Parts: sequence; C-alpha cells; structure tokens
Amino acid sequence: MNTIPFSVLRRTAHLEKIQNSIFDLVIIGGGITGAGIALEAASRGLQVCLIEMNDFASGTSSKSTKLIHGGLRYLKQFEIGLVHESGTERAILHTLAPHLVVPEKMLLPLTEGGSYGKTLTSLGLMVYDFLADVNEDDKRKMLDKNKTLKKEPLLDDEFLLGGGYYSEYRTDDARLTIEILKQASAFGAAIINYCEMKSFNYTDSKVENIECIDHISNERIIIKSAHFVSATGPWVDIIRKKDVSLNHKRLHLTKGVHIVFPYEKLPIKQSIYFDVNDGRMVFAIPRGKTTYVGTTDTNYSGDLNRVVTTISDVNYLLIAINGMFPSVKLTVDDVESNWAGLRPLIHEDGKDPSELSRKDEIFVSDSGLISIAGGKLTGYRKMAHRVVETVLKTISKEKIDDIKESFTDSIPLVTPALNSSEAVASYIHTLEKQLLDFGITDSFYASYLCSTFGKNTDFILEKAKSISFGPPQERLVKAELWYCVHYEMTNTLADFFVRRTGSLYFNIKSIHKHLDVVVMDMTQYFNWDADRIIAEKNQMQQLLFDATHYYETEF
Ligand SMILES: Cc1cc2nc3c(=O)[nH]c(=O)nc-3n(C[C@H](O)[C@H](O)[C@H](O)COP(=O)(O)OP(=O)(O)OC[C@H]3O[C@@H](n4cnc5c(N)ncnc54)[C@H](O)[C@@H]3O)c2cc1C
Repeated sequence: MNTIPFSVLRRTAHLEKIQNSIFDLVIIGGGITGAGIALEAASRGLQVCLIEMNDFASGTSSKSTKLIHGGLRYLKQFEIGLVHESGTERAILHTLAPHLVVPEKMLLPLTEGGSYGKTLTSLGLMVYDFLADVNEDDKRKMLDKNKTLKKEPLLDDEFLLGGGYYSEYRTDDARLTIEILKQASAFGAAIINYCEMKSFNYTDSKVENIECIDHISNERIIIKSAHFVSATGPWVDIIRKKDVSLNHKRLHLTKGVHIVFPYEKLPIKQSIYFDVNDGRMVFAIPRGKTTYVGTTDTNYSGDLNRVVTTISDVNYLLIAINGMFPSVKLTVDDVESNWAGLRPLIHEDGKDPSELSRKDEIFVSDSGLISIAGGKLTGYRKMAHRVVETVLKTISKEKIDDIKESFTDSIPLVTPALNSSEAVASYIHTLEKQLLDFGITDSFYASYLCSTFGKNTDFILEKAKSISFGPPQERLVKAELWYCVHYEMTNTLADFFVRRTGSLYFNIKSIHKHLDVVVMDMTQYFNWDADRIIAEKNQMQQLLFDATHYYETEF
C-alpha cells in the first residue's frame, strides 16, 4: 500500500497524490461520519480521498455530549431499532479502543414529580439492557433512596425517591474522529484538512470531479473520482444546493450547548442523567478537573460557522443543575468554558427539536452524489457501512470482485492498541510512575495522556525526555505538539488546543500558560511569517472568547 505518513509536514505529497489520482470514492467532510466512511471504504479495498474544509472534527463532531450511548431517551419515542443498534455498537467500539470508549456508570435519580416512576424506570432500563445486549455485570440496578444518596450525596434528599443505575460509555468525539482517520490513512486513504469543496463539474449530468480550494496554499485543485459522498453534517443541504438536488427532504438544525465547571464547583461522584422541568433530560458528567453539563435542544437558523452559547442557553442549564443539586448554588461566574454544536437532523413537519428522530438517512441525487445526514456519533460504523454498500451498488463489475467484506469491527482504532480495560488501568498506573520520575506530580496527567493518545503516549514521553530545557510540564506540552504535528495533521493553534488535546473545554487555563511556547514551536515547524502568527493568535483569542462568553442572540 502506497501510504504517505499522516503528517502535516507531508502535506505537499498528500496534495500531489490527491490531484494526480482518479479515486473510487471522494468523501466531502471530515467529521465522524466522513471518517467512518473513509475507514470502511479504504479497508475494503476502495481508493479513497477525504477532504475537510476546516480541521477534522471541527463541526458537530467535537461538540457532542461525548457519550457512546444506547440512547435511553429514544425508547420513549419507540425507536427500538436505533436503541438496539447504538447499544450493540457501544460494546464493539469499547473493544476497538478501550482507552477512548470507556465504561461509565450512569445514575438516573427518581424524584417526586419526575418524568418516570420507579416501575416505569426499572422496566425501561430492563428493555434498554435487553436491546443493547448488555452483559450480566453491567445490567441495570434499581437503588433505594439511601443507596442513591450514597452514590451521589449532592442529590436533594428532600425529593429523592431512589435511582436507576445503568451502563453507558464516554469518549472524546474529536479524538475518536482523528484516530479513525489515522487508521483510514494507514489503509491508503488520501486525507487532507483545510481543503474546501467549492463546486461540482459534470459529464452527462453525472458528477465527474469537484473543484476545491486549499486554504493553506490558496490553490485551486480538482479531484476526480467515480463516486462522491457528502458527509458534511449541518452543511449537507448547502452541498445538495450546489448539486441542485435539494428537495422536500431537508435538514432541521437544532443547537445543543454544554457548560463546564471546575470540578470543585460541581463535585459529583459520578455521571448523572436527570429530569428538567420542561420534560427533557440533561447529563452531568465529571471529567478530569471539570464537570460538564448538557445539553440544550433548540431550533437553529444562525451562522453555521460560528455557533455560540446565548444567555438563555446558560440560564436553562444553570436552572437545571441548581434544581437537581440545590446545595451547589452555581452562577454564570462559576462556568469555566462552554461549547455549542448543531445536530444535523432530518426535518419532520410539526415536531419539536427533542422529538425529531436521530436516525440517519441517505439521499442519492440524479447526478450520483450520495449525501448522508442525521445519525449519531455512536452509530458511525453502521452508517459508514450503509453508505459504502450504496456506493458498491453502482461500482464496476471488475472492481467489485476485489472488494472485501466489511471488517471494521475488528480494526483497532489506535495502534499500538491497548486491548482491554485492565490493560488501560495498568498502563495509566505505569504512566503515573513515569510522570512522577519526570517531575510531574499532577495525578490528572496520566489519565489525560492515556485517554487522549493511548499507548502513543510512550512516544510523547520519550520526546519530552529528549528536550533539554524548560520545566517538565512545558516539555511535555512541546512533546504533545511534536506528536500532533508529526502524526496527526495539526496545522493551527486551534487544531492543537481544541481538537487534538481538548484543552479549550477541559483545561482552559493551560492554554494561557502554554500559548507562547506552542506558537514558538509551530512557527519553527511551519516557518510562519508575522501575518500568520497574528492570524493564528486572533483565531485562538476568538475561540477563547466564545468559550467563556454568552451572547444575547445567535450570529
Ligand atoms: C449537542 C450535541 C450532543 C450530542 N451528543 C451525542 C452523544 O453524546 N453521542 C452520540 O452518539 N451523538 C451525539 N450527538 C450527535 C453527533 O455529535 C453527530 O451526529 C455527529 O457528530 C455528526 O457528525 P458528522 O460527521 O455527520 O458532521 P460534522 O461533525 O459536522 O462534520 C461535517 C464536516 O463537513 C465539513 N464540511 C462542510 N462543508 C464542506 C465542504 N464544502 N468541503 C469540505 N468539508 C466540508 C465541515 O467542516 C465538518 O467538519 C450530539 C450532537 C449534538 C449537537
């Protein structure tokens, strides 16, 4: 397989390959959906190219609740197929990346006046376990009031009746996307970020190639392929408009906001999924040094490229939290960071945002353009399979004989792989000792590095040790940056601080601390001139501002 390393330093070679090939499949959009399709198609033997106009996962795929979940609430809408598919996918994804898809027990408090009583909750969770094929140890348990309070002492003693205790998985959506892309690249897919699809060119009314702009060099490039898929999430209808194939089936965008507190402000002992007065449910999830809470679900018609949190979003979530945990008395000043993302759902007349189905749907236009919309992070593998099967229906006879059966259920998402939860725990333990020897006493760092880079942390630590100057923490950040530039197509400050490390959301103070040293190293790696440095810093400042401010209205 003629693969070029997945490094931004080999960008020119990637662009040459992209321009000089005729692919079987070009994927527009580098979120989780596009990434999943790239891996499914490349591993089965198709010649694949994927382009992303911004950074990978910069759309919805870095703004989710970061759960690989069966979708308990979809039971309420009788979406049995969706619950079953999501439920069974969770277990598969956990085996493919146990450091990145991590079991997470969820507590569902039952309160006076809550949506469900004890019997209904017990029954619902039992059906959920059955549909998700949950193993014996992980099956739901119903807890009495005392046991529920023991699990989470911050709950309101006065109105608490008991709790349901069940299993979910947590992840990092952007890391998941990037790891899948790295694997697709290892199977020969040509993948590039900052390359925007601008228009389609047709022969005999069928798409023959696409015209793109490379935002790094500002060059126009043409990409040729037999098939084209748009996996552009919230942008799907814009691409369908360019193809003049937008019809009565269209997207319905809803916005979801999460807010992040320093852990000590909302020190819950475990993840909680709780009722809100309007009948919706909200998650509160401890993660590293923080606890995050979300999400909202409101109709959206603002700017797709700048989705922000409004004052009413933050107030909605604060009322929800203070209602469930009255002793914490949180205010907007306690919020450390936030993010807002768009759900690319399929419109259904007369339905409220929360009632719209999360099912995915594939549209095939007369020009041959295949678009996929809807869906969830959790179902990316199955969605990818359905898209590639759609492509294969029209592929030439000679080619089809060479196509393998799908086997993404056995491709580890990170190599070298950690292959069980036990291996992950033991690796974190080893890292803790190594980090102590290196001079890092913060116990959070070992689990952060493991959940972010998996066993590739070994390379990062080795690199950090080879850097002669600077305090240990700074040397580690420089080594993380080195890894992300050399192995993860990191082009910009935001790629590093937002999608590769998650610092903007979960360790925002560290950005202020390390910004200068990261700018200095990136300037050296990429030979940035003064204008580029200013542009990079400005973009980072805007992201920092949006993550810590609340607007009156959408952009
Ligand atoms: C608030 C919220 C919470 C959620 N929580 C969960 C959860 O906990 N679990 C779960 O399973 N799911 C969850 N979801 C759903 C899940 O996040 C989405 O279904 C998924 O991320 C969508 O991915 P995507 O790849 O389809 O879209 P995106 O991630 O938006 O990717 C589309 C990409 O296409 C690119 N693009 C657009 N136009 C072009 C062009 N012209 N040229 C090149 N590239 C282009 C964009 O830049 C973008 O990166 C949540 C969603 C939201 C909004």
